[in-house]
Amino acid sequence: MPESCGLQSAPETTKEGNILLGKYQLGRLLGYGSSAKVHLAQNLFTGQNLAIKSFTKHRIVKTDLINFIKREAAILRRLRHPHIVRLHEVLASRTKIHLVLELAKGGDLFSRIATFGRLPEHLSRRYFRQLISAVAYGHSHGVFHRDLKLENLLLDDRGNLKLSDFGLAAAPDQMPADGLFHTLCGTPAYVAPEILAKKGYRAAVADIWSCGVVLFTLNAGYLPFNDSNLIAMYRKICRGDYQCPKWTSPDLKRLIGRLLDKNPDTRITIDEIFRDPWVARGVDKEEWTAIGMFQEEGKVSSKAEEMEAEDRALNAFDIIGFSSGLDLSGLIGVMAERERFVVDETPEGVLRRVEEIGRGEGLFVNRKGKMGNAGVEMREHNGNLVVGVDVYRLNGGLTVVEVNGGGDGDAKGMKFWEKLLGAVSEPFRGEF
Ligand code: ADP
Ligand code: MG
Repeated sequence: MPESCGLQSAPETTKEGNILLGKYQLGRLLGYGSSAKVHLAQNLFTGQNLAIKSFTKHRIVKTDLINFIKREAAILRRLRHPHIVRLHEVLASRTKIHLVLELAKGGDLFSRIATFGRLPEHLSRRYFRQLISAVAYGHSHGVFHRDLKLENLLLDDRGNLKLSDFGLAAAPDQMPADGLFHTLCGTPAYVAPEILAKKGYRAAVADIWSCGVVLFTLNAGYLPFNDSNLIAMYRKICRGDYQCPKWTSPDLKRLIGRLLDKNPDTRITIDEIFRDPWVARGVDKEEWTAIGMFQEEGKVSSKAEEMEAEDRALNAFDIIGFSSGLDLSGLIGVMAERERFVVDETPEGVLRRVEEIGRGEGLFVNRKGKMGNAGVEMREHNGNLVVGVDVYRLNGGLTVVEVNGGGDGDAKGMKFWEKLLGAVSEPFRGEF
């Protein structure tokens, strides 16, 4: 395969003892794409192995990447499907944003084909079914992937496909009124002809074309449309000019022809794919149910839950300090002298709790500032400041809590700290 397809380099190992935010031990590089690097990681508290996709802030700030990361996180939080990679949490350090993802131990299908060559037909069928079930599930929730390619199809340790990398995906709120997208996106070899025609395209139908390119490549071991000259490649795509290798069975050839139909109006639909004889061949009832009844297998969260999750995801990014005016870049990590974290509680609620703890410790408690940006100082009898707590209101009922002092070596401060951390409500504490 040509280099332009993004062949992964040999795995590289990070430094020993590389621990992310006190929670994840980072391991070897699993892969990288155009926007991020992905490392193996282990949750130090649970022992669970995961994949961490890291974006460098330097690049995020320079490009419009933040919006893509936000969207990827919001979409992944929403989708629950056995063949779509799960997002566990979003983290940020001073220099990077990290998506903590379900680990797909088997790596991506591109590396697999590049190393071991094309797949036998029964395996192409298995992965294709799983891909279509994931894509259909996404479409039924208004999510269009728009970058379906072998590099974004991963395998877990049981050889099941996991669709990943929703960085270019379109979410329901982006659906244009006429249903036609105009953004040119995707990877050249997988792009549908109607996208190149620049007259607007239906994202669901364009995704199906890319699934056709995937299926062809699994079976052939090479791409259907390829040329070192991009214009020449686009010309082949627009003409639908490809040749199936001689080992392709007639049923598979016909299906590929229906997927790579250059006319989007007559291209095969998802429903027709499920009924296609090549796709349906030899499927047992259980497997058929698993791929056909995808909505039932994955739990779909309610609209309210989705909106709340999205709200929080976006807030989490604002907190990191990209889009808000607040400079909260020091938010992350446990610091001896100052720590910031986010709680799912009102500022007033946090301050009352803080005052209670302070009084319980025999400190003088002094409220300052206004709600929205208020604080409490706690002093000893001699007037020495032990701890200062400031709160900042965020939308969505969240509060940023900044604690100054109470670091190492200050017994009173430490005690206060422990009590406060024990008392604040959860969701975001663990995430930053
Ligand atoms: P980009 O958005 O930069 O393309 P991807 O999400 O596609 O990044 O990840 C790049 C590569 O990292 C993938 O092609 C794959 O090899 C590897 N990778 C990504 N996510 C995982 C995961 N959850 N488990 C294992 N490997 C992964
Ligand atoms: Mg990718």
